[in-house]
Amino acid sequence: MAFSCQNNDDSEPKEISKSDDKILQKADSILGLMTLDEKIGQLNQYSVGAEMTGPGDKGSTSQKRYEMLLNGEVGSVLNLLGAENTYKLQKQVVEQSRLGIPLIFAYDVVHGYKTMFPLPLAESCSWNLDLMQQSAAVAAKEAASAGLQWTFAPMVDVSVDARWGRVMEGAGEDPYLGSLIAQARVKGFQGNDLSSNNTIAACAKHFAGYGFVESGKDYNNVNINKHELLNRILPPFKDAAQVDVATFMNAFNDMLGIPSTGNSYLLREKLRQDWGYEGVVVSDWNSIGEMVNHGTVEDLKGAAKEAIIAGSDIDMEADAYSKYLKELVENKTVDISLINEAVSRVLVLKYKLGLFEDPYKYADSARENKELLSQENLAVSREMASESIVLLKNETNLLPLNKKKRVAVIGPLAKDKDAPLGNWRAAAQSNTAVSFYEGLKSALGQEAMISYAKGCDLSIGPNNFFDELEINETDKSGFSEAMAKASNAEVVFMVLGEPAYMSGEGRSRSNIGLPGVQLDLLKEVYKVNKNIVLVLMNGRPLTLEWEHENIPTILETWHLGSEAGNAIADVITGQVNPSGKLTMSFPRNVGQVPIYYNHKTSGRPSTAPGQVFYTHHTDVDNSPLFPFGFGLSYSEFEYGELKLSKKALEAENDSIVVSIAVSNKSKVDGNEIVQLYIQDEVGSITRPVKELKGFEKVAIAAGETKQVSFTIKPENLAYYRRDFTYGTEPGSFKVLIGASSAVSNYKTFTLK
Ligand code: BGC
Repeated sequence: MAFSCQNNDDSEPKEISKSDDKILQKADSILGLMTLDEKIGQLNQYSVGAEMTGPGDKGSTSQKRYEMLLNGEVGSVLNLLGAENTYKLQKQVVEQSRLGIPLIFAYDVVHGYKTMFPLPLAESCSWNLDLMQQSAAVAAKEAASAGLQWTFAPMVDVSVDARWGRVMEGAGEDPYLGSLIAQARVKGFQGNDLSSNNTIAACAKHFAGYGFVESGKDYNNVNINKHELLNRILPPFKDAAQVDVATFMNAFNDMLGIPSTGNSYLLREKLRQDWGYEGVVVSDWNSIGEMVNHGTVEDLKGAAKEAIIAGSDIDMEADAYSKYLKELVENKTVDISLINEAVSRVLVLKYKLGLFEDPYKYADSARENKELLSQENLAVSREMASESIVLLKNETNLLPLNKKKRVAVIGPLAKDKDAPLGNWRAAAQSNTAVSFYEGLKSALGQEAMISYAKGCDLSIGPNNFFDELEINETDKSGFSEAMAKASNAEVVFMVLGEPAYMSGEGRSRSNIGLPGVQLDLLKEVYKVNKNIVLVLMNGRPLTLEWEHENIPTILETWHLGSEAGNAIADVITGQVNPSGKLTMSFPRNVGQVPIYYNHKTSGRPSTAPGQVFYTHHTDVDNSPLFPFGFGLSYSEFEYGELKLSKKALEAENDSIVVSIAVSNKSKVDGNEIVQLYIQDEVGSITRPVKELKGFEKVAIAAGETKQVSFTIKPENLAYYRRDFTYGTEPGSFKVLIGASSAVSNYKTFTLK
């Protein structure tokens, strides 16, 4: 038996909700009143600063944009923050433009607005979908109170390359987990009612393939085949569409040889036709303009034409639509129906957001003051942060910390109140996170014996979003103090990693070890005291070979947001038992990159000793340092034998239940993320060696055993086959359940 889908698409097309007729009629009635200039205005998006909320100097860009705003020649803006500013601009636009169409205010609310949450990659390590949804809901609530209605998040790009700085914004390397997280985040931002002034429109980005920029270099090209696109990259986008994500954003890169922004295969065939998506597509920043650099169009006019024909509705910052669409329509190169469709989508979104009903209901200074950084919001952030932490090694049980021990805290990030806020920090103020040192101190209380030394510096020069960041620190003069403090302590916390802006957009690295002289510092301290807990703060998987070989305890804390220090202290003291598991493999060295658990079989996969001619590097093991799905706990979990309810799936609606007993052998209650993997043993194309198909985060009390079971149906085995149709293929499958993707015990079943 094999099932297929007629439209080359999924077996179980869940209804993507269609815009309701009334809203469409309303949009149509406005459309009927609009001049061509006003229509094009709705497709034009600018970045707007506070200076553009009033008249500027004659002839300046600010003044020009201000006039266009008041003329109805801009439909949405990004980067204007705060209830007061957004209210002020909205009022002028509504009152002074001919039709009074309200603006949408957009911003990159990626992991919190003012209350910072962990980086999205960090959050994904919690595998806690409800909590991630809640985190997005808090971010939405804060952003909405400050006058925003639209976030350019979540980034749902699957990526397998830790050199790429933007892996911090995603959910890691797995499309299945990535899809579920994408949906949770969209639901969190948008809630059940987009018109509520507590929710904002979400945006699935970057469509598509941005996570696969060649050699992890940001803005590079993408060379990936169509099967990989369909099976690995598109699932989170499709699933975001299924929960009605309000908008999509293009990617900077090309896909199958054509810039994504002008790619009608992606935008028309997949998104609109196959998935029935009716929301808005926004370009990425000047990505219409960048089509000229890609070399598939001659000039900005050509780019405007290709982008609108392909289905990009809004032009962010390229000024291509504002300059050329009118001419292209008037000389009949572009059909007016394309403009009408795009404008109608924008108007429908404005209706859905409730902006026609009350354009001012988001911006509310009193609510903003009350909402931002509220104790309630910080509490959610702290919980999310402690669940995002991954314990990578705890060989000598230095953790949880015995509070009576004499402790030394060392490292350039130990007292850093900025790094934990991470990149894409929206409206958060610099240096406002709870530092590691502060968190530990308040957890250990007055009597705590904590000494401190910075050891070395980390960041050099101005440290913000727009600066290149290179650490060329060589100063080791702080080492001796660090060594002295360490030799006097019973436990040493080394707090090392990347500063906030070392990951994120434009922050690709070719060397992903600890930057600066941090590793040297660690080695020196290790000479005087081996009882080290390495606390890492970083935005991407790092190479940690020496660290792993020598340091007994390693805690991956990423950039955890406003409550970082408290959340880390919660885990260190055992208040919270760590339960996070990695969603991206950690390579042993950078030469292994890209390295990911669900790679495909090759003709020479053997790792038998003594062989030379098989797929491997001669100087490093084939395995990652820490695999996808890996993470330790203070509890000790033991997996029993895998059981299958039967050995074959006989019909399309048939199912097999696979179950396993998981026991907590320790004296500590804990949470374990139990993972189900499947391998399709023979396929019409080469298939991944393993694919995550289910997981459950289970609370297991000390000494308790729990049965965990999963149901496998034929639809879970479907994929895009050799002929690009979607469906299953009969044959034999391996099934594995374990604590990480490195699980090897399997049973087999067949699909008839
Ligand atoms: C990024 C997008 C972001 C946009 C607006 C671009 O540079 O690629 O992800 O939403 O800027 O800030």
